[in-house]
Amino acid sequence: MRAVGPGNRPREYRGRAVILGCGGFEGNAEMMTRYIGPRALFLRAMSKGCHYNKGEGIAMALAIGAAPCGDFGSWHASPMDPRSDRAGPSIFIYPQGILVNQHGQRFVDEGPGPTDETYESVTREINAQPGGIAYAILDTTVAKVKHPESVVRSEVPLVQADTLAGLAQQLKIPAEALEATVAAYNQACQLGAYNEAAMDGLATKGISPRKSNWARPITKPPYIAYAIIGSVVLTFGGLRGTPRAQVVNQQGDVIPGLYAAGETMGLYYRNYTGATSVLKGLVFGRVAGIDAAERLRG
Ligand SMILES: Cc1cc2nc3c(=O)[nH]c(=O)nc-3n(C[C@H](O)[C@H](O)[C@H](O)COP(=O)(O)OP(=O)(O)OC[C@H]3O[C@@H](n4cnc5c(N)ncnc54)[C@H](O)[C@@H]3O)c2cc1C
Repeated sequence: MRAVGPGNRPREYRGRAVILGCGGFEGNAEMMTRYIGPRALFLRAMSKGCHYNKGEGIAMALAIGAAPCGDFGSWHASPMDPRSDRAGPSIFIYPQGILVNQHGQRFVDEGPGPTDETYESVTREINAQPGGIAYAILDTTVAKVKHPESVVRSEVPLVQADTLAGLAQQLKIPAEALEATVAAYNQACQLGAYNEAAMDGLATKGISPRKSNWARPITKPPYIAYAIIGSVVLTFGGLRGTPRAQVVNQQGDVIPGLYAAGETMGLYYRNYTGATSVLKGLVFGRVAGIDAAERLRG
């Protein structure tokens, strides 16, 4: 295998087995745009370490005829605070309020189901908005949210104002539009029992998009906002592998001695199945290691 080391010096490694475990292509702007599209410009890596994953393992293997697998046009999306410098600054508090875009308009059901199962599709909608950004608009009732550290993982303070117009000014969105959006939403809220811990079915009526759960009027100042953009946690596209983590070619034949594990091995289509990525790296990494060692033993 040929590589480039520090100082752009060429290196050559020889071995009977190669295991590619060098992540996806989330750190490669060119591949992100080529596969995911121009809106990749508005995505940010969920942690700085993601920038090291430039898809080199995937690109090298595809270049020698390996078969692709997984949804190259998609990624694991998660809502994050664009102002944060932290790893994993997720913002999961939006189901307690509404989401508006830069025009001050709602665009998505903020409470379609359990947040853990729905944040990916909501984040994709955020990425589709002008500038790929949205704002969670909440009021002081949000102070009663249990375990706030689990729904706001940013270290940057929230935006706060006594009036919606004041909030809009700080967010640089049209005040009249935000006031009208909140008024229409408040009017669509219904009486009923609110339950933060379950899908309470407290839905809006007569408004589009509807909010299916946790719909309470936003009326109690101070008003609060969090900016949210889409992050890329990992990319879905990678190499096709066998259950023994061997990489196959376009004809489905094993490429002798070539293995892939983790994000380098493509698997997911459309939606990420929660908490499976580390598991996938662990399982196929172990399997690849055992198989490669057996190969070396001959
Ligand atoms: C904030 C955050 C939270 C997450 N939470 C979860 C979770 O709860 N559950 C879950 O399952 N997953 C989670 N994930 C996703 C999961 O961490 C990753 O998908 C997983 O670590 C991928 O493992 P990997 O070994 O394929 O790649 P990585 O862990 O990214 O490792 C790849 C390594 O290869 C190195 N590398 C890249 N290119 C080269 C090269 N050309 N030469 C040499 N080395 C190279 C990189 O520097 C890196 O060290 C989370 C991710 C983030 C960012």
